[in-house]
Amino acid sequence: MGTVAPHAKVRIEGEKLTTTGPLLITHWGMSGPAILKLSAFSARLLAERQYATSFVVSWLGEHTEDQVRDLFQDQINQKPMAQLSTFRMPEVPKRLWLYLLEKLEIPSDKRWNEFSKKHRNQLLNALLYDRYDLRGKTTFKEEFVTCGGVSLSDVDAHTLESKRRPGLYFAGEVLDIDGVTGGFNFQAAWTTGFIAGKLESKA
Ligand SMILES: Cc1cc2nc3c(=O)[nH]c(=O)nc-3n(C[C@H](O)[C@H](O)[C@H](O)COP(=O)(O)OP(=O)(O)OC[C@H]3O[C@@H](n4cnc5c(N)ncnc54)[C@H](O)[C@@H]3O)c2cc1C
Repeated sequence: MGTVAPHAKVRIEGEKLTTTGPLLITHWGMSGPAILKLSAFSARLLAERQYATSFVVSWLGEHTEDQVRDLFQDQINQKPMAQLSTFRMPEVPKRLWLYLLEKLEIPSDKRWNEFSKKHRNQLLNALLYDRYDLRGKTTFKEEFVTCGGVSLSDVDAHTLESKRRPGLYFAGEVLDIDGVTGGFNFQAAWTTGFIAGKLESKA
């Protein structure tokens, strides 16, 4: 809880789309830019799967399997007597590293020269392909943005007037746009409200 993995990469299991960035472990699950982007960009897929699926985290961002194997081998060669618990990577905070060892039931006081091939493979998988289940979504309106139901192709981009119902104007979150997070949603609400209101009053 409260731990941040600064360079995580996440994807829905079986899908190619990945998002990257800081990943925050909270008291209720995972958040932070990597997760929020994945949730936004995969919104339709998640709805299709009724919010029951798995996602995969690489705690090491773009690292490859070979790079991780080399990292382990370097430790075995250079610090054979050091305990696994003392190992540090910039991408993996200490508490996360200890959690992964515990999850895999690898004793953290094991030394690098006692680190079996089986454990090395397990740890490589946990660092690059850590799988978690996703079940359900938060209560309506806890979402930062809902990316509403009015398609942009159904409104005149200059006036925000409905193409289906002339005289009706749309603004804000009801439009099918979102800024994932940050101030962009407020900006979109204010800007589209200004445009819709200004042009309508002139009509
Ligand atoms: C928890 C949370 C955190 C957020 N954080 C950020 C952030 O950090 N940065 C950012 O940019 N955006 C953020 N957002 C998103 C941002 O708040 C919204 O995108 C923005 O407020 C949308 O403005 P809006 O006017 O389109 O809709 P709303 O603000 O939802 O306004 C719609 C209004 O219509 C009213 N209404 C609904 N139905 C009816 C009806 N039938 N009759 C009359 N009135 C009705 C509602 O009561 C409401 O007052 C956050 C949202 C949430 C929920």
